[in-house]
Amino acid sequence: MKPEDGYIAFIVNPMAGSSSNKPIGRRFAAYLRDRGFDVRTNPTMYMEHAAELAERASSDYDCALIVAVGGDGTIREVAHGLEGSDKPLMMVPHGTENLLASELGFDEKLDTLIRTFEAQYTRPLDLGKSNDRCFTSIAGFGFDGQVVDRVHRQRTGHITHLDYFWPIWRSLSEYKFRPMMVRVDGEEIFDGPGLVFVGNISRYSVGLKILEQADFGDGLLDVCIYKCASRRHLARHSIMTLFKGHSKSSDVIYRQGKDIHVSSEHADIFTQIDGDPGPPLPAHITVIPSAVNVMVPEGAKPAGIKTRILRALS
Ligand SMILES: [Mg+2]
Repeated sequence: MKPEDGYIAFIVNPMAGSSSNKPIGRRFAAYLRDRGFDVRTNPTMYMEHAAELAERASSDYDCALIVAVGGDGTIREVAHGLEGSDKPLMMVPHGTENLLASELGFDEKLDTLIRTFEAQYTRPLDLGKSNDRCFTSIAGFGFDGQVVDRVHRQRTGHITHLDYFWPIWRSLSEYKFRPMMVRVDGEEIFDGPGLVFVGNISRYSVGLKILEQADFGDGLLDVCIYKCASRRHLARHSIMTLFKGHSKSSDVIYRQGKDIHVSSEHADIFTQIDGDPGPPLPAHITVIPSAVNVMVPEGAKPAGIKTRILRALS
């Protein structure tokens, strides 16, 4: 990409991540300006604003590239705004978890961003859609939905991994294992108490490889259901997942599909999409294949659990 190709639109969430003093986005913008690029920074005022800014940039002939600086929520909104456009998206991970960026092989180093920008290697990214809300990574139904709801209700600004501690603890002690029903491509595959995950990336929070066969560009969504009715059972599932043995377990259902329904007779089941509160049940989840072109580090692999824990501690 050359400066003559057009300007670069930065869409920046000033609230993302654990603090505002990690200036990786600003350093990357400075690098681009030094090389003669016209960088135009747009801070987001509210969540959907990122999608509106991205949509505007995508239809602007003079814009050559969109850079999203923020966490998973910001990147999801920008991807949503770019859906169907051929303008490339580059992400600068600046959130607490950065699930999608980590899956694509980004770390939080400026060198990686520069290398990715220089190589111009892009891949198509599918999007999921739960009712009318887009997601890039993982939609969760039940336990993790409740954790996300608690984190969000107490959120006042930047959050860290520590802000998840009490919500997880309280959800563990109070969670009611309500039955849910799941259909994949017309076939009922589950009806009972459990945890349901639908998504496009292999690794979830702290790098847990829940949707282990997921590929973000294969046109399919992966579904993993943990049959689970007690805290003790949930603990066993967690340990199995940590040691990557869960999908062989007889009380785990693993499928791939394009059209997924999750429903329940109970109204108190929380859902989450990409770490934000999701739409209520019943949920109809579909895939939008090759929705966005994303620039990725060539040959990079998703970061593992150890790497992510070290990153969170640093
Ligand atoms: Mg997929």
